[in-house]
Amino acid sequence: SARRRKIVAGNWKMNKTVPEALALVRELRGTVAAVGDVVEVVVAPTFLALQPLHVALEGAPLQLAAQNCHWESSGAFTGEVSAPMLAELGCAYVIVGHSERRQLFGETDESVNKKARAVLAAGMKPILCVGETLAEREANQTLDVVERQVRGGLAGFEAKDVATFVLAYEPVWAIGTGRNATSAQAQEVHAAIRGLLGRLYDGETAGRVRIQYGGSVKPDNAAELLGQPDIDGALVGGASLKAGDFAAIIKAAT
Ligand code: PEP
Repeated sequence: SARRRKIVAGNWKMNKTVPEALALVRELRGTVAAVGDVVEVVVAPTFLALQPLHVALEGAPLQLAAQNCHWESSGAFTGEVSAPMLAELGCAYVIVGHSERRQLFGETDESVNKKARAVLAAGMKPILCVGETLAEREANQTLDVVERQVRGGLAGFEAKDVATFVLAYEPVWAIGTGRNATSAQAQEVHAAIRGLLGRLYDGETAGRVRIQYGGSVKPDNAAELLGQPDIDGALVGGASLKAGDFAAIIKAAT
């Protein structure tokens, strides 16, 4: 929909040293400037690169996201980073509930919900990831799983808060596998999520929430995925690590 500005985000995961991160962003600057108000571009580097990138960006229209945060503001949580700390570094977004964090680090809908609450309280916006495994898709449980994750992640939020969320539909079987969901498969789930938001909140809220697709988005499949009516952007892993590929995906969103 024309009302929703597309949002393309690069999830760098545990990749790129600080010098490499600075170099990659330098290469993206021209593309980001050229797409202007049409596409919102976000990168999610490691925690370490957030501050150097914030300084280097000097107000350039490239938004920063963290890949995770803790739900408490401070305290005895060795190894963790809080949402207020990230906001202070210039982060606009925090990815919560990425499937790697759910699968490898024990995140649950409940912890994801607490993190999202902390992100909003710190004045940032959550990018809330949901998506089914291959076994769940093959058992025809896709829409049930995604509904449970959306309900769980958004539990207790009011419509005005939900409208600020970005949701990311990321089928686990498509992440890092080179096997993207077809545009029809993705559109079906995106439309179901938007329908759910309409039932849980209202049509206005459902129409405002941006829903990204993630899972093996590449320059050669981005335009078709991003051309679907309920696909409002992309969350990009592997292809966001190369400036040329990520720039091509950003351009496909225009
Ligand atoms: C991701 O991890 O969010 C992702 C979509 O990865 P990839 O693009 O590499 O599949």
